[in-house]
Amino acid sequence: MSDNQKISPEEICELYNVKRWGSGYFSVNEKGHLCVLPERREDGPHIDFMEVINEIREQNIAFPAVIRFHDILRSQVKLINMTFREAIKEYDYKGQFFGVYPIKVNQMREVVEEILDAGEPFNHGLEAGSKSELMATLAYNENPNSLTVLNGFKDQEYIKLALLGRKLGRKFIIVVENISEFGLIIKIAQEMKVKPLIGIRAKLTVRGSGRWAESSGERAKFGLTCSEILNGIALLKKNNMADCLKLLHFHTGSQVPDIRIIKDAIAEAGRIYADLYLSGITLEYFDIGGGLGIDYDGSRSANNSSRNYTLQEYALDVVSGVQQICDEVGVPHPNIVSESGRYITAHHSCVITNVVDTIHQTNSSFETGVIADEHILLTNMRESAESLTTDNYQEIFNDAQQAKTDAITAFKLGVVSLEERARIETLYWQVITRISQILAGVDFVPEELQQVEELKASQYLCNFSVFQSAADTWAISQLLPIMPVMRLNEKPQERCSIVDITCDSDGKIDKFISQSGYDKSLLLHAPIKGEDYFIGLFLTGAYQDVMGDMHNLFGRLNEVHIYCDDDDPTDFYIEEVIKGTSAEKVLATMQYNPDMMARQVKKEIDRQIHLGQIQPREGVRLIDFYEECLAGYTYLKF
Ligand SMILES: *Cc1c(COP(=O)(O)O)cnc(C)c1O
Repeated sequence: MSDNQKISPEEICELYNVKRWGSGYFSVNEKGHLCVLPERREDGPHIDFMEVINEIREQNIAFPAVIRFHDILRSQVKLINMTFREAIKEYDYKGQFFGVYPIKVNQMREVVEEILDAGEPFNHGLEAGSKSELMATLAYNENPNSLTVLNGFKDQEYIKLALLGRKLGRKFIIVVENISEFGLIIKIAQEMKVKPLIGIRAKLTVRGSGRWAESSGERAKFGLTCSEILNGIALLKKNNMADCLKLLHFHTGSQVPDIRIIKDAIAEAGRIYADLYLSGITLEYFDIGGGLGIDYDGSRSANNSSRNYTLQEYALDVVSGVQQICDEVGVPHPNIVSESGRYITAHHSCVITNVVDTIHQTNSSFETGVIADEHILLTNMRESAESLTTDNYQEIFNDAQQAKTDAITAFKLGVVSLEERARIETLYWQVITRISQILAGVDFVPEELQQVEELKASQYLCNFSVFQSAADTWAISQLLPIMPVMRLNEKPQERCSIVDITCDSDGKIDKFISQSGYDKSLLLHAPIKGEDYFIGLFLTGAYQDVMGDMHNLFGRLNEVHIYCDDDDPTDFYIEEVIKGTSAEKVLATMQYNPDMMARQVKKEIDRQIHLGQIQPREGVRLIDFYEECLAGYTYLKF
């Protein structure tokens, strides 16, 4: 590698914004490999991605794969609890902090168990929003000192299950989302002879901004208006159950980009708390919901993939906001409950995939010589290519763009032949390549010509499905950090976008984080023939981790769970491998019968053997091959 191709760990981190989105968990080592720092310190353990990848390969686990770093999960749980505790101490706030993890953010049992385990010293509990999630909390949250907050729309079964939690001595709090639930809770609690813990979700008028703005505001699907709250309390009083009301909840939507929304919500909900308390309702918990954002693009701004505050500011603003209102009105400081999910899970998992091919626009290579009676558009394009200089490149660029568009129209009308079009395209890409070289040497690039690099960008075909592994980039244009995990001591010089192996033209990623906002292309290395080139999609641990769908019948990925071990020379060990979905399983989910399919194919092969079209030995091998593929991974095999 020559010196001008080299790049230092600091420079490459800067290029991919690693320090900003990585929250201290990611870094690049001297070998040019991406590393995980489970303790967020450069002098702590380093887990080298290439060592992880090599060990995965030794165990014959195929890529693409999800890699989970359990230590990051644990660290995030500790971080949120410690930060709130510090804020409480700093302000001499009288209430305590109770975190509850919303299962819907990442329902994987291993994730939920790890969070509960790491959260045990802090009494970190769970939040459920459906009957299935509630059943999971019954089985998994056994800590009698932590909370289980039950949101979502409820039927009789839901309430019965929640009250079962009370019978088991747990702090299960049923949060009323809808006025009719008061009646149901009163009735079933009386039938089961158990005292419920009740919460209410307030419908605030502050509207979130960001993507989930609709989760709050007057037209939100969830929550009670002020009059509904007062009517519900009257009903509880009539049934001698007003003392069951313990929690006030609101949720402003996920990934709140702007701290002002949080402050506004606290001001409004704080007043509701204070007024209810003054009227004799001894609420104990003030539940601020989720919404604590992640800086996906590293911009620290109020745009949708970022947030303009830190965890510390968030905690300080929440604590001081509630305190101010309480002190002003003279009511006790409630315990603060947070239902933060994204913040805890986003960093812990990533998707590692390899680039399997590259598609270069500019690779069009055909003869460009004159043909007899050629169309004028071809002659013009050739003249443009030949007359291009450093003085006229802007003019030539405009001519070439126009001539290319005209040529396609002319082709469709049958005026330009296939042979002529191939020549025009080749000449066009020669012009673009040359202009790009010229632009590299000039100080000022006119706005129109800034698209040249985008035009030239290649497509890197990666072995994964956007719909399965990066659903949020497709569904809600979530920006995810994407970068190679290797060759990071080498300057990446290929501008490209990412395409997946589904047959869907939406199966692509063409929006990337950059230092100045976002770019339509990403800088990667030119793959070396015969060598793997691994890239990672990061911060995939919240929501999309479990939302992937089976578009094109690509199933769930192989999963590898990593724990840090300071005594091991590599600083890690693989604790568990969960096999991704096999082709037969994906097919069976869609009501196919893989056994019958194999029998059917065998019958056809037998018939061909009988007809003498296939040799018996080959026939047996083909049947085995078909069955092997059925049992195999759904992704490309290399
Ligand atoms: C989804 C959800 C959460 C989690 O929000 P995050 O932004 O991921 O922390 C919390 N509470 C409720 C009611 C939710 O619906």
